[in-house]
Amino acid sequence: MLTGLYVMVVGGDERQLEVIRRLHELDAFVKAVGFELEHERTSEILKVPLTVEECASVDILVMPVTGMSETGEVEAKYAKHPLFIRPQHIGALPTHAKVYTGFASDAMRLMCDHANVTFVELLKRNDLAIFNSIPTAEGAVAMAIEHTNVTIHGSEVVVLGFGRVGMTLARLLKAMGAKVHTGVRFPEQFARAYEMGLNPFYTVDWLEQLDSIDLLFNTIPSMIVTAKVIAAMSQQTVIIDLATKPGGTDFRFAEKRQIKALQAPGLPGIVAPKTAGNMFASTLCQLISEDMEASLP
Ligand code: NAP
Repeated sequence: MLTGLYVMVVGGDERQLEVIRRLHELDAFVKAVGFELEHERTSEILKVPLTVEECASVDILVMPVTGMSETGEVEAKYAKHPLFIRPQHIGALPTHAKVYTGFASDAMRLMCDHANVTFVELLKRNDLAIFNSIPTAEGAVAMAIEHTNVTIHGSEVVVLGFGRVGMTLARLLKAMGAKVHTGVRFPEQFARAYEMGLNPFYTVDWLEQLDSIDLLFNTIPSMIVTAKVIAAMSQQTVIIDLATKPGGTDFRFAEKRQIKALQAPGLPGIVAPKTAGNMFASTLCQLISEDMEASLP
C-alpha cells in the first residue's frame, strides 16, 4: 500500500490513466495535472494546476512514458492547454522527492541534476522494456498488415536488431509463418537467433540479404537502412522503422525511390494503451513500494 504518499501525476495519455487508477487503488494521495478534459476515469482524483506550491508538497512526481521535450513540454492528451515543466517546478520538490518517467530528455536530466532531484527512467529497465516490447511487436505487425498486400505468413521478412523489441518481433513473425531473417552483430546473438529457428546474418554484410524482402523492420537506433541499402532493395519492400526518432532509415531516399518507409513511434500507447499503462503502473508502484519499505526505520 502507498498510504500517506503524495504523488503528482503530470500529463500523459491513456496509459497515465492506468497509472492514476493503480496509485489511487493503492491508497496514495494523487494530484493530477493536465487532466481537465478527462472526467470519466478521474472523477475521484484531485486535479490541480502545475504550480510551485503544489510541487512543494509531493513525495513523487510521475511524468508520462514520453517524459518531456527539450523545451519542457509534456505530452498531455487530456489537458486544456499545453503543459510545460519549468526548472522552478522541479526545484520546488522536497529534497526526498523522486521523479519517475519513461524516458528522460537531456533537458529533463539537466533540470533534475541542477535541482539535485533523483529521477528514474523506467523504460531503461530491462523488465519493463521487455514487457513493452509485446505491444510494440503487435503494433508493428498491425502496421505491416495495413500497409502490405501480402500475408505475413510466407513473407520474407528482415528484422534488424536483436534486442528487446527485435527478439520479440522476430519470434511473433516466425509464429505467424513468416521467413524471418534477423540482423545481428555478435556471435551470441547469431547463435540465439539460430536456436530460435530464425535466419541470422551479420549486419556488416547485410546487403546480400536484400534480394526479395517483402518487409523490413528496423529496431536499431542509428542509421542502418542507408541510401546504399535502399538502392539495393526491391521497390515492393515495405520498411517499418521502430527505432526512436529520427530512426535508422534514410526516409528521404526511400521516398525518392518510391519505397514505402514508415516511422512507427509510440506503438504501445497507440495499439494497447491499457496493457502498456498497466505494465508501466506495475513497475512504478513496485519501485515506489520498495523505496517506502527501505525508508522505514
Ligand atoms: P535494445 O534492446 O537496445 O535493442 C537494440 C538492438 O540493436 C541491440 O540488440 C543492439 O545490439 C542492436 N544494434 C545496434 N547497432 C547495431 C548494428 N550496427 N548491427 C546490429 N545490431 C545493432 O533496444 P529495444 O528496447 O529493442 O528498442 C529498440 C528501439 O526501438 C529503441 O530505439 C527504442 O527506443 C525503440 N522503441 C520503439 C517503440 C515503438 O513504439 N516504436 C517501442 C519500444 C522501443 P547490442 O545488443 O549488441 O547493443
